[in-house]
Amino acid sequence: MRTTRWMIVIGLATALQMASVARAARHFDKVQIKVQKVAGNVFWLTGAGGNIAVSRGVDGLLMVDDQFMPLAKKIEAALKGLGNGPLKFVLNTHWHGDHTGSNPHFGKTALIIAHRNVRKRLTREQVKKYFKRTIKPLPKSGWPVVTFRQSISIHFNGEEIEVIHLPRGHTDGDSVIFFRGSKVVHVGDLFFVDRFPYVDVDSGGTVEGYLADVRWLLGHIPAGYAIIPGHGAVATLADLKRFEGMLAETIGRVRGWMKANKTLDQMRAAGLGAKWKGWGVGFINEKTWIAIIERSLRLSSSRTK
Ligand SMILES: [Zn+2]
Repeated sequence: MRTTRWMIVIGLATALQMASVARAARHFDKVQIKVQKVAGNVFWLTGAGGNIAVSRGVDGLLMVDDQFMPLAKKIEAALKGLGNGPLKFVLNTHWHGDHTGSNPHFGKTALIIAHRNVRKRLTREQVKKYFKRTIKPLPKSGWPVVTFRQSISIHFNGEEIEVIHLPRGHTDGDSVIFFRGSKVVHVGDLFFVDRFPYVDVDSGGTVEGYLADVRWLLGHIPAGYAIIPGHGAVATLADLKRFEGMLAETIGRVRGWMKANKTLDQMRAAGLGAKWKGWGVGFINEKTWIAIIERSLRLSSSRTK
């Protein structure tokens, strides 16, 4: 009797799991990879997940980020459409699955390069306390082969492609990639255009570090560069400046509330004001953004005590 009941429970759990896998697969079935030229050698690919950048030229193809595994074949077809193959390098802006999911596919033939903390997190199980989730390591073919601490340059397609690590922002392994000849930069998830960002505190990100990284970008992206964000459309320095203004103001507001000993519920009830109303779209709504700031600031202050 007991065994039967457990079998029903397990059966139900498996069925639910399979249903959610099937739902996800159906979702990816409908996704189309769109290719748009940005400037110089650089193209911008969208599908589902983080923005992809591709350098195409006489030396071949180089790709920054590769979205989710079920999209690998479609991304490969889009690369074929661009021509000048094969794909020689894959760079990862950070370890999250919506940017590295297809690594195991492309890593079989191309060289994957990323910050050392990206390799560290892709090779070990990751626990996300905030979202109560555990993420399995990637299969070995998806692991970065070349890693670096601060920066690395790839001289490819007639320009320097400079990869620079910025500390403790979205995660502890963020890199931004400057295409020096094409005047394009891919900044990964250090920029969500006109949206509250996700700061992954469980992966070493902090809101103060995130703001400092965005300010570093404002000081180091030359005028006239096209900026590919992690999520959202290709943007300009003016868009990034607006994002910095939102970060400074909302982080400052939560810091003030904490000094006044407000509870998280009180902060959420007060809200961030009409100015940022449209920014809470997707999975980081206003309440989640307030909670992320509060948790990050609280953990930082307990670290320095
Ligand atoms: Zn991310």
